[in-house]
Amino acid sequence: MKLIFLGAPGAGKGTQAEVVSERYHIPAISTGALLREAMANGTELGMKAKSYIDGGALAPDEVVIGIIKARLAADDCRNGFILDGFPRTVAQAKALDEMDIKMDGVISLEVEDDVIIHRLGGRRLCSKCGSSYHVDHKPTAVAGICDKCEGELITRADDKPEVIKSRLDVYHEQTEPLKDFYAAKGVLKMVIGQEKIEDTTALTIAAIESIRG
Ligand code: AMP
Repeated sequence: MKLIFLGAPGAGKGTQAEVVSERYHIPAISTGALLREAMANGTELGMKAKSYIDGGALAPDEVVIGIIKARLAADDCRNGFILDGFPRTVAQAKALDEMDIKMDGVISLEVEDDVIIHRLGGRRLCSKCGSSYHVDHKPTAVAGICDKCEGELITRADDKPEVIKSRLDVYHEQTEPLKDFYAAKGVLKMVIGQEKIEDTTALTIAAIESIRG
């Protein structure tokens, strides 16, 4: 099964992708996480992406398309995958089409902007393994320490209040048109994001089951 998770930054794509990945035994692939990894490793690609990411802008299409092409060629993608945060522009969606990759379903997680602003402000990330938490909605057992690897939690540079607003603008201008793009293909499913993560998960699983028929 090949799925795309669409939605504003902070809509819960990564959180839901993690659960769905475990349930259906398919990898969740986050272009944001791949770019952050490249940044942490100080690679040329990472250096190139840093200014875009830290400023809340999208990395250039050709950069992320290259990353995703390489990742989808890996063995673990043979039985399907979840794309979390890719595509984010119509040009990226067309590049997927050109790779002859037909998506089974596109789940759009719908969350209001003011909820997003609160969520992203409280989001924390493990500096070691990249796991995502929230100070109110998904706290760690010990404050500031990752439950999974005991790494130190940090706030992403692009979760700073002044950057959140521009990321939302970018979402509405460049990514939201993908809903029409995939609706026209008959593969779009809307899921209304709920206050509780597990409630959104239940709706997401129901949408996926309707795709599986
Ligand atoms: P995310 O972790 O999905 O919120 O992504 C963090 C940042 O990485 C985004 O704000 C962009 O700067 C960059 N990024 C991630 N995925 C893409 C993509 N598909 N196209 C362009 N930039 C991306």
